[in-house]
Amino acid sequence: MNAIRAAIESVCDPEIPVLTIVDLGVLRNVRQVGDAVTVTITPTYSGCPAMDAIREDIVAAATTAGAASVTVNTVLSPAWTTEWMTDQGRLKLAEFGIAPPGADPICPQCAASNPRTVSEFGSTACKALMVCSACGEPFDRFKDL
Ligand SMILES: [Zn+2]
Repeated sequence: MNAIRAAIESVCDPEIPVLTIVDLGVLRNVRQVGDAVTVTITPTYSGCPAMDAIREDIVAAATTAGAASVTVNTVLSPAWTTEWMTDQGRLKLAEFGIAPPGADPICPQCAASNPRTVSEFGSTACKALMVCSACGEPFDRFKDL
C-alpha cells in the first residue's frame, strides 16, 4: 500500500472521528495513474453534510501525501447501507459510545438491552437518541439504513 492510498484510507468521518471512510464502507475505489489520483466514494446518507468535509479531507490527505491532482467521484448506486460498515467499524462505534447499526441496540454503558428511543434524530440525522432503561444513560444509535 502506498502513502497516498494510506492517507486516503485514514480520512475519518468528521461526525464520528473514530471511524475512517474504510470503516464506514464509504470508500469504494482508489485509482492512481502517475501522481494523479481518482477516488470513488458512496455517501452514507444523501445530503449528509459530513460528505462535503470528507471530500475535502480526501483531497487534502492525498495532496499532502504527494498526489499532484485528486478527483473525487461520488457514486450513488448501489446506495450505501449500514451493511457496508465493517466489523471493525462497528466495534469502534461501540467503544466510542454509539450503539452500532444492525444488531439490537445495547446500552454502551451497562450493556442492558431494550433501550427506549427518545428521538429519531440524535446529535446528527443519521443517529437516533436512546435512553437505557436500566441505568438511564442517554446514548446515540447509528440508525439502520
Ligand atoms: Zn445502561
